[in-house]
Amino acid sequence: MRNSNISWTKSTWNPWIGCRKVSKACKFCYMHRILEKGGANPNTVIKSTVSFNAPLKWEKGRKIFTCSMSDFFIEEADEWREEAWKVIKQTRQHTYLILTKRPERIKENLPIDWNSENYPHVWIGVTVEDQESVGRIHYLDEFGCSVKWVSFEPLLGEVYLTGKELSIIDWAVIGGESGNRKGKYQFRKSELSWFMSLMYQFEKEDTPYFFKQFGTWYHYNQFKLKDWKGEKQCENFPKSFEIRQYPKTNYYGKKAH
Ligand code: SF4
Repeated sequence: MRNSNISWTKSTWNPWIGCRKVSKACKFCYMHRILEKGGANPNTVIKSTVSFNAPLKWEKGRKIFTCSMSDFFIEEADEWREEAWKVIKQTRQHTYLILTKRPERIKENLPIDWNSENYPHVWIGVTVEDQESVGRIHYLDEFGCSVKWVSFEPLLGEVYLTGKELSIIDWAVIGGESGNRKGKYQFRKSELSWFMSLMYQFEKEDTPYFFKQFGTWYHYNQFKLKDWKGEKQCENFPKSFEIRQYPKTNYYGKKAH
């Protein structure tokens, strides 16, 4: 998709679509919601014939959330991933943001010529929704990458990070869950204190973070936030909730030191 409504990216690119749930964070997955609504089976992973080569046509560099409707490292895509890496390698004008809940598969599924010099424009991240899933961060330490990041969305519990875990993270996204009020795809509440605890931990380390949204719960209940995802801030709220930073990068998306 050329333009995305996900606030931390400019575009999304889905070389394949469909995914199996593997984590608590997947419970109300928007991809499942969208595909089911359209009558498709979201558990079946299919290669996209229409958009597989789309980034080759986008001349101007942009941030691209890669596999917003799947998981880049899912097993079913093993036969297509090498081709996707080729598209990525040929388009260094873009910055590819890859996010996975299958971090144990990252290292073995990187391209043969992987290093942060050949792929400085690829940021690889994992989702962490609670303390139980913090172990995913350690998989990011198994390989080099210009920006290693973590999405704490939907945040489902308070998370405490060790010094080692904080040292691995170059950038973090923080947010609550969005979803429907009724039916199969709802939303869970994130406590404000969980957000603030993470922000405090990152501020202490001087790690850039992007506070994305409070979540739909705060739209219908406390604060009555205007938009359904709870992205717009309340007046007189702590300024931390307005922070939308990115890692400092050079032209190719590589982190500047
Ligand atoms: S890994 Fe991502 S795309 Fe796959 S089911 Fe979970 S939330 Fe959905």
